[in-house]
Amino acid sequence: MGGGGGPTDADWAAAVAAVRGLPADARVLLICHVNPDGDALGSMLGFALGLRRLGFHHLQATFPGPPGAPEPFRWLPGIELLVPPGDVYPEPDLVVCFDAASESRLGDLADRLATAGTSLVLDHHASNTGFGGINLVDPHAAATSVVALGLLDRLGVTLDAAMATGLYVALTTDTGSFRFEATTPAVHEMAARLLATGIRPGDISRRVFDTRPFGAVRLFGEVLGRATLEPAAAAGHGLVWTYATRDDLTRHGQPAYVLEALIDSVRCTAEADVSCVVKQSGEAEWAVSLRSKGAVDVSRVAVGLGGGGHRFAAGFTGRGPLDEVVASIRDALPSNVLPPNS
Ligand code: AMP
Ligand code: MN
Ligand code: MN
Repeated sequence: MGGGGGPTDADWAAAVAAVRGLPADARVLLICHVNPDGDALGSMLGFALGLRRLGFHHLQATFPGPPGAPEPFRWLPGIELLVPPGDVYPEPDLVVCFDAASESRLGDLADRLATAGTSLVLDHHASNTGFGGINLVDPHAAATSVVALGLLDRLGVTLDAAMATGLYVALTTDTGSFRFEATTPAVHEMAARLLATGIRPGDISRRVFDTRPFGAVRLFGEVLGRATLEPAAAAGHGLVWTYATRDDLTRHGQPAYVLEALIDSVRCTAEADVSCVVKQSGEAEWAVSLRSKGAVDVSRVAVGLGGGGHRFAAGFTGRGPLDEVVASIRDALPSNVLPPNS
């Protein structure tokens, strides 16, 4: 990768050359991380539409796991490019990966990195392993879509509303709708460029963040009702956590994606620096979301437990009984408390 400072001029030039060197009938495969969020899907589809603008017409977009985007994203421009992982080109000419810090986040599709003519990685995780042939990784970028737009600009693509929609969904997702620390002047400048294409932010936000089935509202009530506060955890900085089982989802008739927003209702707890949602994903398997308000490096907690992420937003896959997964988190917190003012 281009080091802690982001992509070098040589990295950008290599990425531009990799795309420009392809014939218009090249097969291009775009992959984003498993269990895709707004940054993964929005960056991928926004970039895909930019490639279509350049004349590429053998484009596939995909992610590992069950096919089909979560409901809040099914309206995104470019969604028609999504193909089930089983149907993707076995040997694409170019593979481009989005918002994945490591190959493991690509599941079974990681083999395309080896079978593709060229592989390009667009990401913003500091922990990115540099698994691509060409790596555009900017840990200072608020979202992968910042990197995606940087490459589209260098390719000379003129931004349109369809492209901007995905890139905007990505930017608002990873900045918590411009609330998080990553919301720099450059983020607002990018948002201004995207909005200038005529996209409607109110409409987009309502569809992506503020719409869920009534059953999910009831489910949240139940799951939030059993949240546990542990003020002494994390060396006194406090931990708040809750969990949701597959049975909870079934009883309320809800798909798993509705739980993605749950962490936002938990992390507002004033008495806890660290918040956590443990979501059952298999018989004894749990998708864990971790957030910190600044006292704890949850990325290190997650990496220590086999996952990854950002300093204040991270996750991992927990295995075993629920109480053991929660205990593993609780145990990892004190040693990852950050020094003051770090
Ligand atoms: P989430 O809690 O699912 O919104 O994820 C927060 C952050 O943690 C994201 O930036 C992800 O990239 C990262 N993350 C979540 N789950 C995992 C995992 N199982 N392995 C590696 N990184 C993860
Ligand atoms: Mn993501
Ligand atoms: Mn991201």
